[in-house]
Amino acid sequence: PSQTLTEMMEKSVRTYGHLPAMEFFGATTSYRQLGEQIDRAAEGLRRLGVKKGDRVALVLPNCPQHVVAFYAVLRLGAIVIEHNPIYTARELRHQFEDHGARVAIVWDKTYDVIDDFPRDLKLESIISVDITTALPLTKRLALRLPVPKARAARAQLTSEPKARRPLTWKSLLDHRRISRRVPRPSVGDIALLQYTSGTTGAPKGAILTHANLRANAMQGRAWVPGLVDGKETFYAVLPLFHAYGMTLCLTFAMSIGAKLVLFPKFDLDLVTDASRTSPPTFLPGVPPIYDQLARAAARGTIDLSTVRFAISGAMSLPVNTVERWEEATGGLLVEGYGMTETSPVALGNPMGPTRRPGTVGVPFPSTEIRVVDPEDPSIDLELGEPGELLVRGPQVFQGYWNRPGDTSAALLEDGWLRTGDIATVSADGFVTIVDRLKELIITGGFNVSPSEVENALEAHPDVTGAAVVALPRSNGGEIVAAAVVLREGAAIEPDALRDFCRTHLAAYKVPRRVVIVDELPRSLIGKVLRREVREQLLAG
Ligand code: ATP
Ligand code: MG
Repeated sequence: PSQTLTEMMEKSVRTYGHLPAMEFFGATTSYRQLGEQIDRAAEGLRRLGVKKGDRVALVLPNCPQHVVAFYAVLRLGAIVIEHNPIYTARELRHQFEDHGARVAIVWDKTYDVIDDFPRDLKLESIISVDITTALPLTKRLALRLPVPKARAARAQLTSEPKARRPLTWKSLLDHRRISRRVPRPSVGDIALLQYTSGTTGAPKGAILTHANLRANAMQGRAWVPGLVDGKETFYAVLPLFHAYGMTLCLTFAMSIGAKLVLFPKFDLDLVTDASRTSPPTFLPGVPPIYDQLARAAARGTIDLSTVRFAISGAMSLPVNTVERWEEATGGLLVEGYGMTETSPVALGNPMGPTRRPGTVGVPFPSTEIRVVDPEDPSIDLELGEPGELLVRGPQVFQGYWNRPGDTSAALLEDGWLRTGDIATVSADGFVTIVDRLKELIITGGFNVSPSEVENALEAHPDVTGAAVVALPRSNGGEIVAAAVVLREGAAIEPDALRDFCRTHLAAYKVPRRVVIVDELPRSLIGKVLRREVREQLLAG
């Protein structure tokens, strides 16, 4: 029987009442208190005119108000739209133009950025959230987040009267509980517009229903054996505004009565501090985070032996990160795969000794996959052959907001989703992600997978990171090019790296150009942005 996220949360509030739902710099909120705050914030929003089907923008880092706002908007049957609060003013404005929300709940550091949006946008009310109010001064000082670039054009604006209603979070909660008569959402209603990461182009708003999100939380529950309801401690180091952190921490964790320890950003010192009083049992993350934590655990500065579940996704997980983590913590690190369009998890490794490092595991419960010819997705390929991965299941989204063309390109008849990723499947059903279809390099008639070349470069002891892209050849076609980051103090020449590649790769895969760089451009969640690497190499 499917449930809305609102019913799910109301059940957790009833079941886990006095247990801690969240913790932020040592301050805890119980499930009962969380339920009350959701109710009051929903009433505050209702008085601002928010009703079923309306869109409410959240521009917030991880903080208790983020959790409250998310469920308060849903309670009204309205739609949450998540945003990265440290996007530039321009990026945020594009998203507001796209979704046209009338109400926004924003981190106070971004207030001016949002308030500066042109008056012809639909935005009417902005609620400002100060995430430090509950914290003692020393903790406020520890919390240094990058602030979005201030509006340069502000001074040039005429002093026209403020048309927008400025409000504070405190005033939003200044209401009695919401009347039970206010209609709740239904399972088929849209719950969330979740923007994709923008790795291959402009971010697209994926439409996700209550049924989609609830399904993925339940699939997660079925996937992880040995979870104890009301006893787990989840560390929210991933941003809640991204599909991955949202489902693992906002829906999955709260559905099992876990305590959610919120971090406004990943920071080794903050995590180390929190682990002394609230040891983590469940830690969803990405490879760069596991690398840093494993090194600290190996040095003995943090104890991670309490982590029973460490789940990596969003990008490929290097096998040596797995080894480092497992040696330093004694626990398993397993890899899953997904995308915003699948709420987001579609595949995962078994949480036990049968997991297979280097693969993304097997389809989630009630999820089907196919591997097809990218030129004609009606053609299924032979087992083991690389092709485009298709996914079908209850977590697959409804389409992209305002993008009918992209929607019909991605969603086939019968509900199959084109992932845009190239994958292979082993005889016993384990899936390996090869690369993104859009990022394959075609050189001299051959396909080159950038990941394979990156792995070869990263096998060199002096190399800590590599990004491989296609650059245009003067006579048409493409060449393989690489940007490489060296270990501190290393001084190897690009030609020597090319020689090294020759011993690992067929000649046509060896990069023609190797450029040493200080660092690779990454998305906020840590994905290497090959698109930007390519632009840098073209410019340089
Ligand atoms: P955009 O769609 O805007 O270009 P994006 O695809 O990076 O950005 P997300 O939805 O955040 O946005 O990411 C999904 C993608 O992340 C997948 O399509 C896949 O390419 C990649 N990915 C996710 N998990 C893994 C994994 N375990 N291994 C390799 N790649 C992964
Ligand atoms: Mg994508």
